[in-house]
Amino acid sequence: MTNTNLLPLPDNETLEKEFKKIKPLMTASEAVVESSRCLFCHDAPCIKACPTSIDIPMFIRQIMTKNIKGSAKTIFTQNILGKSCGEVCPTQVLCEGSCVYLELNEKPIDIGRLQAYATGYAIENDIHFFKAGKATGKKIAVIGGGPAGLACAHELTVLGHKVTVLEANKKAGGLNTYGVAPYKLTNKDSLNEVEYISKIGFEIKAGIKVSSNNIEELEKNHDAIFISTGLGESKKIKIPGEGLKGVIGATEFIHNLRDKEQKIVVGKNIFVIGAGNTAIDAAVESSKLGANVTVIYRRSAGDQNAYDFEVNHAKENNVNFLYLTSPIEISGKEHVEKIKCIKNKLIKSKSNIKSSIEPIKGSEFELDCDMVILATGQERMIDLFSGIKGLETDNGKIIVNKNFQTTSPKYFAGGDCVNGGKEVVNAVAHGRDAARGIDKYLMSNNTCHSHENGNPEKLVSNAGFPLTRE
Ligand code: SF4
Repeated sequence: MTNTNLLPLPDNETLEKEFKKIKPLMTASEAVVESSRCLFCHDAPCIKACPTSIDIPMFIRQIMTKNIKGSAKTIFTQNILGKSCGEVCPTQVLCEGSCVYLELNEKPIDIGRLQAYATGYAIENDIHFFKAGKATGKKIAVIGGGPAGLACAHELTVLGHKVTVLEANKKAGGLNTYGVAPYKLTNKDSLNEVEYISKIGFEIKAGIKVSSNNIEELEKNHDAIFISTGLGESKKIKIPGEGLKGVIGATEFIHNLRDKEQKIVVGKNIFVIGAGNTAIDAAVESSKLGANVTVIYRRSAGDQNAYDFEVNHAKENNVNFLYLTSPIEISGKEHVEKIKCIKNKLIKSKSNIKSSIEPIKGSEFELDCDMVILATGQERMIDLFSGIKGLETDNGKIIVNKNFQTTSPKYFAGGDCVNGGKEVVNAVAHGRDAARGIDKYLMSNNTCHSHENGNPEKLVSNAGFPLTRE
């Protein structure tokens, strides 16, 4: 970058102060005190709100009775990435958001931190609860070593299959290593978890990119393949000046920030385009690095996709918001210098459908700008998918049935490449359940028979394609 309005490289002291964890690990006495508040509800709503159905009252009771090992086992039985999920899950809208204490106008149980406490104890002390099952002789490749891929690989290994995880990046962990905000989960946290999970005995090959060029070879050498590639690059917004230096996608910005452990140079005035959770993460991270940050969103505050608690966190970190505003041009010699925007008005629709927006003529204005972060969504991994015979997608998302099997029978898929981008915990649930689907498929002569009673199971597609494999 040649632009002069760049901030200096942050020093270690600043990084330590700014990026300290917002949910620090509990001490043993904090965990006992907090766990003793739980009402151990019958038919607990917190369990229903957890995408991996962890028995929350059970693990909390185990912490209360100082059975930390037992508590970790309860969590890992449902969610082998229970440690990172405890730290990065939006618990405010999941388990904690459904805690009965909220009905009593009281603070909900701090479930996420209790979960991280118990699982962190097991990881720290290298205590393991599962081992590889009796070898079945089946070989499975997992494309993508993120949360879905790791959960799938672990479960498949428990079931006795030989698993190789192929990860395109230098390190595994996916979003946990390269995507989530570092004040939620550090690189060390993520990599420790990867190491802990993989000790069960599956192999991780990092730096291997699977594409339409080498997928056939992979298919020949494996009995089944699980696709957990996540999403692709940040979408372009198609306005003039997007190619200038200093304009970067949010995913690429966060990837670089995580890879360099926050030691990166950013511009003084940064504009983040979009108002989803990724946009908010990029905005907060930039602000913590010392930039003046403004989020630009074309619609109103009520329409933004980011969780309210994330938006509030951004505001507490001095991030500004410009609503009903669209960027129309980015300009500068080589490096971005200005961003031109236009104001929008909401046009109420007669039906209950979301209002549309219309630019207000003559409302254009220009702002000084040293960096633009594009956070309006991510592309799909179309190249890889198009190389797989028979694999169908819907708007770039892979179509799967209830066993996570794709329309190309040897291939299963889960995580963001199926749901279009949800939470880490949703990816873990997909990976775990897909492993069971793969097991059914492989252990019944490549049909989808029920594992328990040997009867053929008629697959009723969630996604609208009836598959019967008998
Ligand atoms: Fe405990 Fe709250 Fe769950 Fe009830 S809803 S079991 S109080 S965490």
